[in-house]
Amino acid sequence: MRRGRRQKWMIKIGEERINILFQLAEEELSHNPERSHRYVQMARNIAQKYNLKINPQWNRRYCKNCHKFLRPGFNSRIRLSNSSIIINCLECGELRRISYIKEKKERRSKKIEFHTLKEGTDE
Ligand SMILES: [Zn+2]
Repeated sequence: MRRGRRQKWMIKIGEERINILFQLAEEELSHNPERSHRYVQMARNIAQKYNLKINPQWNRRYCKNCHKFLRPGFNSRIRLSNSSIIINCLECGELRRISYIKEKKERRSKKIEFHTLKEGTDE
């Protein structure tokens, strides 16, 4: 057996918790930013612990440098250039570039992953 083998239910619970934490972060941001940033930290801890990928939907909602939750127009600015999205974190000034092409690829592999996962269970 491979070291650190992950059970399917663990992955599922981990991903669910990450999603919930990001949703809470979104809700708390305007009236309790510190708590909101703490939720991001918790979500990242879970992702690290179970070696999970954070949903692309949330991936661009936090700063990779200061790890704070970002909301466009609140504490981040999003600009579009030729083939990429540039996210400017107003908390620490970090600029992050995400290319459209890369994101499309990620989404496709996620789809395949989900498909195989579904086939593997009898739910
Ligand atoms: Zn930042």
